[in-house]
Amino acid sequence: MKVYKFGGTSVGSPENMRMVRQIITDGEPKLVVLSAMSGTTNSLVEISSHLYQQHPHKASEVMARLEEKYARVVEALYATPEYREKGQVVTEGIFRMMRLFLHKSFTLKEEKILVAQGELLSTQLFTLLMQESGHSTFLLPALDFMRVDEERAADLPAIRTLLLELIDNSPRVDYYITQGFICRNPAGEIDNLERGGSDYTASLVGAAIDAEEVQIWTDIDGFHNNDPRFVSNTRKIDQLSFNEAAELAYFGAKILHPQTIFPARIQNIPVRLKNTMNPSDSGTLITTRSDGSGIKAVAAKDGITAIKIRSGRMLMAYGFLKKVFEIFERHKTPIDMISTSEVAVSLTVDNTRHLEEIHHALMAFGEVEIDRDMSIICIVGDIIREETGFASRVFNALDGIPIRMISYGGSRYNISVLVPTSHKTSTLQTLSDKLLNASF
Ligand code: ASP
Ligand code: MG
Repeated sequence: MKVYKFGGTSVGSPENMRMVRQIITDGEPKLVVLSAMSGTTNSLVEISSHLYQQHPHKASEVMARLEEKYARVVEALYATPEYREKGQVVTEGIFRMMRLFLHKSFTLKEEKILVAQGELLSTQLFTLLMQESGHSTFLLPALDFMRVDEERAADLPAIRTLLLELIDNSPRVDYYITQGFICRNPAGEIDNLERGGSDYTASLVGAAIDAEEVQIWTDIDGFHNNDPRFVSNTRKIDQLSFNEAAELAYFGAKILHPQTIFPARIQNIPVRLKNTMNPSDSGTLITTRSDGSGIKAVAAKDGITAIKIRSGRMLMAYGFLKKVFEIFERHKTPIDMISTSEVAVSLTVDNTRHLEEIHHALMAFGEVEIDRDMSIICIVGDIIREETGFASRVFNALDGIPIRMISYGGSRYNISVLVPTSHKTSTLQTLSDKLLNASF
């Protein structure tokens, strides 16, 4: 069985939901993962922040607007009064429950329940649409099988056991629908896989049922060789390896949730990115194979902070890096890039929640310098195949760009440079002009 996942814009209007119905009903059975309709999760997050700040009036206003939107969706989505009424029952029930949050204390637990409602709405409304048009369809509640552990990491063995059992005990249908993003934690509470997590749900589900293929349907043709939001003349990439795609997703290519590749890679399940608005395009296929020449694509990740520690004690000492890393570990802050010299180490983080404490602790080693508003530009490809000359081509292309850090050799699939975010667009454009478009 194949797993298809449709993102927020793909289910963002009644017309688009009908398009999704047309795409999936090709006679092949499927398990379909849906996001919330576009804008819904943002509204739910906005409602949550009003409730945290004890502004129930503002929360109630946003909720009312959202409810009106869903009333219009239900009105336009179904062909028959019978299903319009079923749709109303779903939306009224969910909004009635949400209104209860206006009048009680609001904690992280309530927030998780609230932000889960977008996927609960989209999947129930879509399942009704499928049933109205006579397709045998069944909704598998993600809360019955999606699990994370204490660290909020996906618990694939538990997901596999629970999902296979659930499918076994469900009616045999052509189309199974489920929610992306939402799950339960070990306490049995509603939780989620973080923003954009529906892609990750799809690959976890794919790995759990050993799917033939996982297709991620969005509103763009696939991975592009540069970021089309900032750079002109980008091109779609037909084929990427798991490693290349993981680097691109991690380092900023917004099209895919960064963790999506890992479950698929473990089970060797092909992942295909497809465009709901242009279904005949073959998209980008991600497998163990990479095609053709070395440099494939570049991507940028913003919001990076660079930390430099200069220490006389590092000279000829061992155990220094271990002590530095332990500080980041203690504060649960992952490090992205690192480069060292005899007397200094520079590294980058994107999570600055504990920056103050980290800064303070690092001062015990020497002078600490912190630069905010940096971007990692990641250049991805099968660098080994490119053989010699790769680094020099990259550095020639970057002539004139103020590079703060370079990481090369850490993986055979990427070379990363750190630049001030104010230079991001010019760096990306220059790489397209001098490297990507010149190398084909
Ligand atoms: N609805 C969630 C979000 O907007 C999850 C997703 O769409 O992937 O982040
Ligand atoms: Mg997404």
